[in-house]
Amino acid sequence: MNQYNCPYCSSYLNAKGYIVLSFKSDNDTCGIILMSEELGDYTIYFNPEVSIKKGEKTHFYCPCCSKSLEFEHDKNMVRIFKIDEKGEVHTVIFSAIYGDQKTFLLSEERQLSFGEHAMKFLDPKWYLKQ
Ligand SMILES: [Zn+2]
Repeated sequence: MNQYNCPYCSSYLNAKGYIVLSFKSDNDTCGIILMSEELGDYTIYFNPEVSIKKGEKTHFYCPCCSKSLEFEHDKNMVRIFKIDEKGEVHTVIFSAIYGDQKTFLLSEERQLSFGEHAMKFLDPKWYLKQ
């Protein structure tokens, strides 16, 4: 089974096929979001009382340690860790913009892109730059 972990406190973020994160929308509404743990599947669930508009940035936090999961090199991306069945550790980076389907799986030897918007990056090595 794949594990998704917080990069700060290593807590387990997934259960029953979903990654569970806490979030805050641009208008300061907070809640819990469920995202499919299948990379490239953009099924997400959140409470219908919460309104997130397409194109709006959502702020993601670890539900255990409450740290922001914002990716330091691109504030519009979110970073978590994934440990696959073989015990290999990867970094998963996905867009914090609602409706923007971009996900990257980074590991030592390769980079995989998921999502129709991922091809927008002209420089596929952008994440390596400091
Ligand atoms: Zn954490």
